[in-house]
Amino acid sequence: MPSVLKQQRSGSFPDKTSRRAMDQWILRQRPPKNPTRSDRPYAFLIEEERMANGRVEKIGTYFLSNRECPFRCLMCDLWKNTTDDPVSPGAIPQQVLWALPKLSGVKHVKLYNSGNFFDSKAIPRKDLPEIAALLSPFETVIIENHPRLAGQHCLDFRDQLAGKLECAMGLETVHDGVLHKLNKRMTLSDFACATDYLVKNDIAVRAFILLRPPFLDEDEGIEWAMRSLDFAFDIGVECCAIIPTRLGNGALDALAVLGHFAEPKLASLEQVLAYGIGLQKGRVFADLWDLQRFASCPACFKTRAARLQKMNETQMLLPEISCECL
Ligand code: SF4
Ligand SMILES: [Zn+2]
Repeated sequence: MPSVLKQQRSGSFPDKTSRRAMDQWILRQRPPKNPTRSDRPYAFLIEEERMANGRVEKIGTYFLSNRECPFRCLMCDLWKNTTDDPVSPGAIPQQVLWALPKLSGVKHVKLYNSGNFFDSKAIPRKDLPEIAALLSPFETVIIENHPRLAGQHCLDFRDQLAGKLECAMGLETVHDGVLHKLNKRMTLSDFACATDYLVKNDIAVRAFILLRPPFLDEDEGIEWAMRSLDFAFDIGVECCAIIPTRLGNGALDALAVLGHFAEPKLASLEQVLAYGIGLQKGRVFADLWDLQRFASCPACFKTRAARLQKMNETQMLLPEISCECL
């Protein structure tokens, strides 16, 4: 679509108006959803990850198909693979069951549901005991959840599991003004309280941190990602994943046209990962999915990607790659 037309559709960003206006603006920018089926995860993969015990082990990730998250975060693209209506009771256990034969010998599993695991309209509460029973072979079960949905149901699910429960939550950024504009409906205090509650109840917390969210330039994006790492570890988070903010959800594309957003550079991800690992306060991972889009030099991309992968696995600082482009 020509940028002039995009700008007409997007209009100006409604950051000074109501949440409802913000939600509606975000919804108006969306491209169509992808088709999903309720008896299958929409994606599934097995990768290697450094665990809290220091070993690099296989971990399976389910991307469960379920009802769309009711929050409307500005940078979110997870709604693309969700249903409009809740799935029937029994559908999520069926999805978990579907991939179990592929997970033989794998000790850890992520159940990511494009939303909040303890949103009962996404994962029916009555399915939780069956899901927990199906997951009995795993030492670690990682789910994702909004800080405002932390509560007794997390502890109940923890008790139903044979392995340890870990909760991943989007901290996104500790820049107050940007966090507000992200429409996350969460304050830093909400995040800190939820982390405290979970950690005190023996549930480890992993934080997702955005590298260069909208409304920040490249240097500010780096600075605030580092400050977000500091904050996360100070309040008891055990593991942080740095997510380079990506175009593609409609809203960020519209903000890019309006001059409020640009994707971060690969060098910025390298810098923030090195900073986080250097802290030695917990595990820090760079999200490497679709990494090439952040690179500008084909000559060094593969070596730089391999270095980041190695740093994720070893949690050690490795020598920087030299190239004419740098
Ligand atoms: S809470 Fe998570 S899943 Fe829901 S809209 Fe925000 S980022 Fe997306
Ligand atoms: Zn290069």
